[in-house]
Amino acid sequence: MSTPAAPTPPASYRLGLMLGDGIGPEIVPAAVRVVDAALAVVGAAPVEWQELPLGASAIDTHGSAIPGSTLEALAELDGWLLGPHDSAAYPEPFRSQLNPSGAIRKHFDLYANVRPARGLGGGTAIAPDTDLVIVRENTEGFYADRNTHAGTGEFMPSPDVAIAMGVFTRRAVERIARAAFELARRRRRRVTIVHKANVLQLSSGLFTRVCLEVAQRYPDVAVDDVHIDVMTVHLLRRASAFDVVVAENMFGDILSDLAGELAGSLGTAPSVNASDDRCMAQAAHGSAPDIAGRGLANPVAMILSAGMLLDWLGRRHGDDRAVEAAVRVEEGVRAAVRDGVATRDLGGTASTEDLTAAVVERVAGR
Ligand code: ATP
Repeated sequence: MSTPAAPTPPASYRLGLMLGDGIGPEIVPAAVRVVDAALAVVGAAPVEWQELPLGASAIDTHGSAIPGSTLEALAELDGWLLGPHDSAAYPEPFRSQLNPSGAIRKHFDLYANVRPARGLGGGTAIAPDTDLVIVRENTEGFYADRNTHAGTGEFMPSPDVAIAMGVFTRRAVERIARAAFELARRRRRRVTIVHKANVLQLSSGLFTRVCLEVAQRYPDVAVDDVHIDVMTVHLLRRASAFDVVVAENMFGDILSDLAGELAGSLGTAPSVNASDDRCMAQAAHGSAPDIAGRGLANPVAMILSAGMLLDWLGRRHGDDRAVEAAVRVEEGVRAAVRDGVATRDLGGTASTEDLTAAVVERVAGR
């Protein structure tokens, strides 16, 4: 996930837009409005958005939840926003296939899932002083459905026996560890490696050993390592003590839900999935079908994810203005929430539109 600077920022960014299912068509357009406002106010290059089919509607129109034409179009773009999908509700055979987000992550080798958990102030946070980032390895580990070239890494020799494969490779661990230490250098310079090497001595052991090897190249960053079970207790008791946390796929997924909820609500937890040359913004939450279409969804996680994409684009293209726009997005969200504009999940009565408009207003400095 290194981001070598290009000499001149582009005249415009070409970004994809996939609305997804459930609350996706409500929260993704909200993020677009905030990004456009932030780039305009700092005088950065604007975005040319390209909407692409994905999810339940794409099954109807293209016969696939993630059409080949969407993957081909994404390959030509700088980055994209992905709305949540409700793949559990797809009809067969689509329900049993790798879900759209997993398919995109795998297709583009988006190996780093970066999930910040930071209290926004106001609302119902359990640990509002949390300010950490989970850097989750995205391509292998214990998620057997995405760690093979063909097939899913899960199989049943008989109806009563199921076997799932975990995969750990030096190459994948090295690059995720590097992403974690590079990020720590821009933050409070501390990395915590989460593992279970006391039991899974070879697999989790390799993960830990390679992370510690990479740590030696970052003598200015403090490092420690913690077993996954103990880590859940530490997070509950003292989440504010952690800075950057690096973990394999499944441990990182579980810890980031816990950290997101400690810091605020699922509706405020952002993420990006990135490789060295592509970045996908994706809220950490799902499609929330229980509240879809009612204007109740919190757009903050999607907005903050889009802000992280701006930061990634700015660093990759040596574009300070895009980085500045990313800061404005986060500050705009914090200001709106601090001023008490809160959707139902944050204990308020604001609609998706109310909160989006409040953020746009603050980002634009009106
Ligand atoms: P997935 O497996 O796709 O992550 P899920 O069913 O586990 O989905 P979500 O769809 O994230 O979980 O929903 C969990 C709960 O959180 C639901 O009650 C939902 O309404 C709520 N929720 C999720 N996202 C938001 C949001 N942006 N705003 C408000 N509530 C949300």
